[in-house]
Amino acid sequence: MLFLFFILICSVITNYSNIVTHFFSYKDFLMKQFGSRVQKLTIDAGFTCPNRDGSKGLNGCTYCENDAFNPSYCISHKPVKQQIEEGIEFHKNRYRRAESYLAYFQAYSNSYAALEKLKEIYKPAIEHPQIKGIVVGTRPDCLEDEKLDYFAELAQKLFVSIEIGIESIRDETLNKINRKHDFQCALDALQRIKARNLHAGAHFIFGLPNETPEMWLEDVKIINKLPLNSIKFHQLQIIKGTQMEREYLENPISFYPFTMDSYIIYIVDFVERLNPTFAIERFAGEVPPRYLSVNNWGTIRYDVVLQKIIKEFEKRGTRQGVKIIL
Ligand code: SF4
Repeated sequence: MLFLFFILICSVITNYSNIVTHFFSYKDFLMKQFGSRVQKLTIDAGFTCPNRDGSKGLNGCTYCENDAFNPSYCISHKPVKQQIEEGIEFHKNRYRRAESYLAYFQAYSNSYAALEKLKEIYKPAIEHPQIKGIVVGTRPDCLEDEKLDYFAELAQKLFVSIEIGIESIRDETLNKINRKHDFQCALDALQRIKARNLHAGAHFIFGLPNETPEMWLEDVKIINKLPLNSIKFHQLQIIKGTQMEREYLENPISFYPFTMDSYIIYIVDFVERLNPTFAIERFAGEVPPRYLSVNNWGTIRYDVVLQKIIKEFEKRGTRQGVKIIL
């Protein structure tokens, strides 16, 4: 009887350790970094983007609709301090275990302003007693050395992560989606971020026009060599009213037709080949259904997608990096 009980406990422990070790999660990374639960608060500090204000372009990336990604408390005309307070209040009930927060400057390009202006914008976050760090979401072409030096100076006092949108490593795709920068620009930014010992994050989209899963399973070899600490993946979500919606309606065949089930199979294939030192923050995106146009998965929460991904890992008995080819 005692022996059977021992076997049962061993099997529970083995299953549990499989669940928690299928991939290196950003949540685990934060737990290691801060020793307690830390929650990200999204801030819209009223930045714009060089691909919107005319300095590089006026129409933006073909898929871009920032309103679709912002939570309701996050409105740019509110002062940053007020957004932080309201964000803490909003998350308090949902994540009771969170004691401290990261201010996530997400909307548009959060390093696209003069240095003195940046200092003014980031000050309320840096001085807030419950903010343990900042995450700066930006474009790789908005990271001049003097700004990175400023962020490196801040990193002496608090956690600073620079998160850049790379989206694709293929220049023909970056061109097609009107990013107005190439992959080399992202590489250069990442090297300068790492030279200052800042946390480097990157964002990729799977499903951009003329790309296929076979291509991404090749691209992962290049992604694995990037000087990254964390990474986010999104399936392409086509937002109403965007240039990409028009392109999809004209030529749907140029978009890979991911269903949720085929995406799950693919993303596990991809992560099996992914550098295991990269903390994964997201496997898929979630946009309020009212923004979604064609080719979407309907109303589905991210935690449901995540559970399905974990199940696929369990079924295969694999984890991040088991099939890595460097
Ligand atoms: S860089 Fe970002 S904010 Fe600017 S247009 Fe592209 S997706 Fe939108």
